Amino acid sequence: MKSAEIRDAFLKFFESKGHQIVASSSLVPHEDPTLLFTNAGMNQFKDVFLGFDKRPYTRATTSQKCVRAGGKHNDLENVGYTARHHTFFEMLGNFSFGDYFKRDAISYAWELLTEVFKLPKDKLWVTVYAEDDEAYDIWTKEVGVPAERVIRIGDNKGARYASDNFWMMGDTGPCGPCTEIFYDHGEHIWGGPPGSPEEDGDRYIEIWNNVFMQFNRDEQGVMHPLPKPSVDTGMGLERISAVLQGVHANYEIDLFQALIKAAARETSGADMDSPSLKVLADHIRACSFLIADGVIPGNEGRGYVLRRIIRRAIRHGYKLGARAAFFHKMVPDLVGEMGSAYPELKDGERRIMDVLRQEEERFFATIENGMAIVETELAAMEAAGKKVFDGDTAFKLHDTYGFPLDLTADICRERDVTVDAVAFDAAMARQKEQARAAGKFKMAANLDYDGPETTFHGYTLLEEKGNILALYKDG
Ligand code: ATP
Ligand code: MG
Ligand code: MG
Ligand code: MG
Repeated sequence: MKSAEIRDAFLKFFESKGHQIVASSSLVPHEDPTLLFTNAGMNQFKDVFLGFDKRPYTRATTSQKCVRAGGKHNDLENVGYTARHHTFFEMLGNFSFGDYFKRDAISYAWELLTEVFKLPKDKLWVTVYAEDDEAYDIWTKEVGVPAERVIRIGDNKGARYASDNFWMMGDTGPCGPCTEIFYDHGEHIWGGPPGSPEEDGDRYIEIWNNVFMQFNRDEQGVMHPLPKPSVDTGMGLERISAVLQGVHANYEIDLFQALIKAAARETSGADMDSPSLKVLADHIRACSFLIADGVIPGNEGRGYVLRRIIRRAIRHGYKLGARAAFFHKMVPDLVGEMGSAYPELKDGERRIMDVLRQEEERFFATIENGMAIVETELAAMEAAGKKVFDGDTAFKLHDTYGFPLDLTADICRERDVTVDAVAFDAAMARQKEQARAAGKFKMAANLDYDGPETTFHGYTLLEEKGNILALYKDG
């Protein structure tokens, strides 16, 4: 089954169970200032779950565009390092707004996976929230999954990718206990079942999360019961496609293979196994879909996240040998793969290419000099046996050469060193202070004062730093 057919099969299955097929919402949650980008299928239904909004249906199903590259759910640092994380992905979901609850949600999921998709039952593992006896009993007694494959998971134990089985959209909003379904890709792949010390591996991959929405979490962290318990589920299209296509990594599925070929063609990268090709295949999706939804590269907020993703992509292309704008040339390949499911891509094709090309030209003008500085620093570090990249140099790269901190960190990670982010922040703060002082001086001297611009400059830096911190905090 091709991924496009899997998407259809999912929607049709839930339609046959009385669900309304609803279109994906934009990646930019205009109505929700608490959210950077749409990161789950439930986002567009947030107010329905909270009881503020009513729809003519109580069951819905969607294939939702998601970006997890900032904010509470940030997978940017996982891309290229795990088999299962993207910045942009499609989340297949079914939703109950005060209609069915745990029992039906679980039995629909099981029916789709084992009867429609015909997955072998013994390869499926399940987790439930530690205190959720109800879900545990449904799985073990009603569905009949052997108890050794149903695992109770409590709060996050601190592992990098550990599940905690209590889903929250963000720091506030609807949330509740969940039950997750995992697929065992086989013992030739490293990793252990969820909850085990080796769960960070990629052998057992989470394919589907069923969230039982029971609470609304407020700013103080207090959980208020929702008017009607509801269901919100999310299954990564790329992950279920990998399972159904008999491959392990998401990057091996039909859709990604076409994009990886396009990346190789545009960078003349000979090594088809290079992680950089996967990063490019991932990033072209995130960047194109974000631009299609109206985000443009900039120095703050959403635009700055987009700029960072584009620059990371360019750096990976540079590593593969590209010396001039190339990234935008992958857009037609993406449109070929996803344009019929998402017409906004096809409609925006020219504009997406133009925006990317302009951003590329800008960055290609400084990348050569910036990379020379990085390489000189890394060589000096190696000679001295140092493992921490100098923060002032990282700041100079940011300030003069347009290398965002996370980009320098991305290069460093490949060489097994880290960046001194504290010193970077200090350099940023010093520059901000100088900018402010210069503004005051101008004002005092009654020179050609451009107050708003001076203020704006400081704000930009602050925002930028906020984003970087958020990126690291959530990574
Ligand atoms: P993981 O533990 O693997 O990071 P998650 O628990 O953070 O996943 P959820 O928030 O439960 O993911 O999202 C629901 C589903 O969306 C997941 O079960 C998975 O199939 C898919 N998914 C989540 N994050 C990503 C991602 N970055 N790339 C691709 N698919 C994803
Ligand atoms: Mg995650
Ligand atoms: Mg998880
Ligand atoms: Mg999950």
